[in-house]
Amino acid sequence: MAVSIAVTRERREGETRCAVTPDTVKALIRKGAMVTVEAGTGAGSSIPDTDYAEAGATVAADTRATLENADIVLKVRGPTAQEISALKPGAIVVALLDAYRETNTVQALAQAGVTAFAMEFVPRITRAQVMDALSSQANLAGYRAVIEAAAAYGKGFPMMMTAAGTVAPAKVFVMGVGVAGLQAIATARRMGAVVTATDVRPATKEQVESLGAKFLAVEDEEFKNAQTAGGYAKEMSAEYRAKQAALTGEHLKKQDIVITTALIPGRAAPVLVTADQVATMKPGSVIVDLAVDNGGNVEGMRAGEVTTTANGVRLVGWSNMAGRIAADASALYAKNLVAFTDLLIKDEALAPDLEDEILKAALVTQRGRVVHEGVRG
Ligand code: NAD
Repeated sequence: MAVSIAVTRERREGETRCAVTPDTVKALIRKGAMVTVEAGTGAGSSIPDTDYAEAGATVAADTRATLENADIVLKVRGPTAQEISALKPGAIVVALLDAYRETNTVQALAQAGVTAFAMEFVPRITRAQVMDALSSQANLAGYRAVIEAAAAYGKGFPMMMTAAGTVAPAKVFVMGVGVAGLQAIATARRMGAVVTATDVRPATKEQVESLGAKFLAVEDEEFKNAQTAGGYAKEMSAEYRAKQAALTGEHLKKQDIVITTALIPGRAAPVLVTADQVATMKPGSVIVDLAVDNGGNVEGMRAGEVTTTANGVRLVGWSNMAGRIAADASALYAKNLVAFTDLLIKDEALAPDLEDEILKAALVTQRGRVVHEGVRG
């Protein structure tokens, strides 16, 4: 029998993205799979049910009907308890599980005998680039952060020389130059801003400069060793962070827009801008914190809210920034999933090779147990 792939509507609050598009329905069918999509799945990404049906999917009315025979379930976020209860034992779930924090979901998946893979654990090796959902989503989030900043800012971004006078270019400071930060720099530059950026990984200096921005960081011995073998940042010492705060403190006072993106895998995001520093910034300036769902880089930032401080600084704390550009985010994520399912289906049959290093790294639950070491610990 053909492999049965199901996609349900996302039910987490504020989740606008979806795990399948008409294009990826066709790609999954080309692999020999049957695809069932729950009605309303694409609504947040402007994809009507009829487009899925035209692409060859069966559109099912509700969750139970969608999931009852599913071999593989594709999702953006982890499934709800109701969805898990509708799965057959041994079903495979692939999603951005947020497995370090969503421990209840992980436990429920294990108890239901589900084989769950977390897309956030796909290793960043060359072969896996096409399924790197952290990058596809961070890239769009970095772009959207600049758009949100521009919308919240009462002035323009580019320098404009008019008969009535000159509009000065916006000064944008990007803190954290991973995938999201690089796209934020590129976007702000395209819009005509004067951009500076900081990171603790030395490799970022050249990347920042190649995008036409200026690099600013405490470049001491600790900085020279701040990158792990996996390419991520280490947690910096209290001394380093104090030096970093002193350096960026003066700079922050002069900025119009600050975009923070700093993350340390498996830990709370580092605080890069204190409330005292926010208090020194100019009225009308804007801070967008892309790390807000991970604890936040900016003191006083509230997840899911836009607030204004007593000194008139606008704090933009939108959760799920990629979800604010949902149609593109869904399209890229759905393609990441098609590439991932290549590892699960061989010759039109379900055949996950659990010795494959990508599947091994992403596997979280199997046969009633939490098998991912980091999550279990
Ligand atoms: P991330 O989301 O984990 O973190 C964002 C940035 O915050 C990082 O650049 C990090 O160095 C920075 N940061 C952490 N603590 C900081 C602090 N105290 N001050 C300032 N900045 C701080 O990072 P990411 O976007 O996932 O990228 C991590 C690395 O992985 C990058 O080198 C990226 O180029 C690399 N990468 C490689 C591949 C691949 O080869 N397939 C794919 C994607 C990303």
